[in-house]
Amino acid sequence: MSEIRYDRIRDTHVIIAPERLHHPDCGTNVENESLNYVCPFCVGNESMTPPEIFAIRDSNTFANETGWQTRVVPNLYKAVQIETPYKHHYSMNEYWEGFGAHEVIIDTPNHLTSMRDWNEKEFVVWIKTLRQRVSDLRRDNRIAYISLFKNEGCDAGATQTHSHTQLIGLPIIPKEEREWYARNYEYFKSTGKSLFESILIQEEEANIRIVKSYGDFSAFCPYASAYPFEVMISSKKALGQIDTLSDESISQLAALLIAIFKKLKCQLGNFHFNLLIATAPLQQDTVGEGLYSHINESSRFSIRVMPRIYRHGGFEAGTGVIINPVSPELAAKLLRESCDV
Ligand SMILES: [Zn+2]
Repeated sequence: MSEIRYDRIRDTHVIIAPERLHHPDCGTNVENESLNYVCPFCVGNESMTPPEIFAIRDSNTFANETGWQTRVVPNLYKAVQIETPYKHHYSMNEYWEGFGAHEVIIDTPNHLTSMRDWNEKEFVVWIKTLRQRVSDLRRDNRIAYISLFKNEGCDAGATQTHSHTQLIGLPIIPKEEREWYARNYEYFKSTGKSLFESILIQEEEANIRIVKSYGDFSAFCPYASAYPFEVMISSKKALGQIDTLSDESISQLAALLIAIFKKLKCQLGNFHFNLLIATAPLQQDTVGEGLYSHINESSRFSIRVMPRIYRHGGFEAGTGVIINPVSPELAAKLLRESCDV
């Protein structure tokens, strides 16, 4: 059983998860798929995964059979699990028992190995699936925070080639996220605006780091990009969080994502990347009434795409300061000019 341990030295948390020990190695699974390899995420192989938690399916089809467009299953190599007691132990060695949700969203029934190859409908059902999962888990008041992320390629930590997304729901809010939402709220209290709104207004005026805008969303290379060709997508106005996005917003977001991935592919080829979808704190008692009740005004829904072109070393691990050799101004210029659709 895993434990979510509090690191008193760094004021952060670490998940000690022995079940991850048998997690497949990237080298054996991702880069070297043999001819005999049977993909557990492909349509027709539903019996190779644990029973599904949720699926977007064609009508008149049944759970754990074919006929799905996206499918959500528990992670076989879980970092935390929902059956574990929700229990916090206080002492010098402070920890939570390994309670939480660890789910895998199988993004498509077809053996597509990259978001770069998705069509617009695949982006739409993917976002709708994430919306449903976060909305469902928000009702469990033991889950304080959800991390939604994709790893694509060995350099990004992927161990399955078939396109998939992961969801980890925790009883705590990780330090960086807690501080980020607190900063947003402080900014909102002093200016009446969300930080992202101010950043986007300035970026659109300067127009040197904007890659593309569509509908209510803009994609830009952040001023202090930590990764070469890093792209952030955010909404120009308050549209709620991932679990409250409207169908219209999802259609706009899907159209912008497909354009951005096409541009990234034109510039970087088959690049490896991590993708993070911002999810605001889910429960009022973990962040306080003020922050919680103003969350949609102070924080914007956003997606961050982080190409993993360079590996990080001791300096980055020791200081948290990342050296990025590609300026965001150059990256945005190259992306703006390439493969425009
Ligand atoms: Zn597959």
